[in-house]
Order: sequence, then C-alpha cells, then structure tokens
Amino acid sequence: IKDIRRNSFSYYEQVMSDRVIERMSLAEMLREAVDNGEFELYYQPKINLKDGMVVGAEALLRWHSRDGMVPPDRFIPIAEQTGLILPIGEWVLLQACEQAHIWRQEYPEFHMGVNLSPAQFDLDYLPRLVADILKEAQLPAEALELEITEGMIIEDIDNTVQILRSLRDLGVEISIDDFGTGYSSLSYLTRLPLDILKIDRSFMFEVPDSRDSTNVVLSILALARSLNLKVTAEGVETEDHVTLLHDHRCTYIQGYFCSRPLPVAEFEEFMRHRQCR
Ligand code: C2E
Ligand code: CA
Ligand code: CA
Ligand code: CA
Repeated sequence: IKDIRRNSFSYYEQVMSDRVIERMSLAEMLREAVDNGEFELYYQPKINLKDGMVVGAEALLRWHSRDGMVPPDRFIPIAEQTGLILPIGEWVLLQACEQAHIWRQEYPEFHMGVNLSPAQFDLDYLPRLVADILKEAQLPAEALELEITEGMIIEDIDNTVQILRSLRDLGVEISIDDFGTGYSSLSYLTRLPLDILKIDRSFMFEVPDSRDSTNVVLSILALARSLNLKVTAEGVETEDHVTLLHDHRCTYIQGYFCSRPLPVAEFEEFMRHRQCR
C-alpha cells in the first residue's frame, strides 16, 4: 500500500509540474502574441428573430499561436491570471469597434457585442476607456453591447450598479452572458441597469429533449419580458430551437443554425444575404 501511495503521489506531482510548465510556456507565448499580432477576431452573426435579419455580431477572440490555434477557453483563463487580459482586452475592444464602424457604413443599424473579463470590469477607468475607444473608432455608443457574466456582478452589487450606470450613461448596452449558470440570486436583476439576457448555450443543447432545460429557457424568456429586457439565445443549432424561441418571442438568436463565428471576409460574404430562416 505504501508503494502504491508513493507511486501515485509522484504521478500526481508529475502531472502537476507538467501543468505548471504548460501554463508557464503558454503564458510566455501569450505575452509575445500581443506584440506579434497573433490574435484575430471572428464574428458570429446575431439575428433578429422577428424578420430573420442579421442585426450585428459578437466578436470572439482567436489565437493563432506558432503551435497552432489555441481555443479561447484555454488561453483566456491564463490571460486573466497573468493580467495580460488587460492589453488583450483593449485590443479586442478597439478592433471590434473599428470593424463595427466599417460595417455600419453599409448597414447603419449594425451593432457589435464584446466580451468583458472580470479584470477589465474591475478597472476604475473602464467607462473612460470605453468612451475613448468609441471615440477613436468613431462608433456611436448605441452600436456597442458589452457582455458581462453573473460572477462579475454579484461580488459588490453597489459598486456594480455604479460601473454599469456610467457605462450606460455613455449609451452602450449591457448584457448578462451565460445567464442561468451563475447560481446567483435573481434579486440583482431588478437593481442593475441592464438591457439583455443571454441564455447560456448549455440549456439550448438540451432543448427540446430535456423538459427541465426547455422549462428553464421558457422561464428566462418570461422573466425577461416581465423585466422589460431583451433576450439573446446562444447555441441555437436546430430548426426546433428556432421554432420554440420564435413562438416565445425571443429577441435575438446566435448559433450554428445561422453561422459559426467567421473571419472578416467570410462574415462580409454572409452579410450579403443578411437573412437566416
Ligand atoms: P461566450 O461568450 O459564451 O461565447 C459563445 C461561444 O459559443 C463561442 O465559443 C462560440 O463559438 C460558441 N458557439 C456559438 N454558437 C454555437 C453553437 O450553435 N453551438 C456550439 N457548440 N457553440 C456555439 P468560443 O469562440 O470558443 O469562445 C469561448 C469563450 O471564450 C466565450 O464564451 C467567452 O467567454 C470567451 N471569449 C471569447 N472571446 C473573448 C474576448 O474577446 N474576451 C473575453 N474576455 N472572453 C472571450
Ligand atoms: Ca459572450
Ligand atoms: Ca455565452
Ligand atoms: Ca462563456
């Protein structure tokens, strides 16, 4: 038994140190990635369910590292831990706003969703930064939607109200991303200045097979309506999803049913049709 313990312990140590090494080198690679221009934004269309028209996009970060494509779920947490998310996040915001400005020349209503990370949300100067970037990109504030998660808002609700107020005073829209996964009390919904709830894609995947997930989706739609909020459903992959969401007056949909996230040229090709349904 002793031997087994010792062996499994050293195995554990080995795995741990591999992880640490991997994380260190990823962190080092990340640091250089910013300067080397290894990042690219992909854009996933958002569709208005009423008429099936594209109304905008969510900007999603892609990292083409020298070792190949690294998915955001792998490098964003490291960017968070190392603080690199701040320069990266600023690059994302400016890049997405400049792209939105370009697309609005042809599609005046076009709006852009950008993900904010917790470290960005903690910045005192976030409203100032957003204002500066909007100005630099010549983008009207109402064309920008900032996506935050429940985890970012529950820590200090009074402070959050302050931040969101000053962001909304600029004219940007605020959405709660991954809504329903945060296990948090819903009471914050009535206190925070919000515009949109984004139903997490994990619920959509189980619709309509799981009765529970279907009910969660319907409840979120009802809740949003009673609070006068718009709803974006993510992970919309099937005709069944579209029908259910349409029947229950969901505002926007986003998902593989219409399109995967696309690089700029392909997104522009997609926009020429502008229709999805
Ligand atoms: P998210 O904000 O929830 O983004 C939606 C994710 O769902 C994207 O994954 C998108 O590609 C994926 N998706 C969209 N429609 C479908 C569908 O129909 N089926 C399936 N299976 N997946 C779908 P992605 O691009 O891998 O991004 C993962 C996460 O990384 C994002 O989740 C977000 O939390 C984070 N992220 C991405 N870009 C940024 C960024 O610029 N800044 C920050 N802070 N986080 C980012
Ligand atoms: Ca998002
Ligand atoms: Ca989401
Ligand atoms: Ca997410």
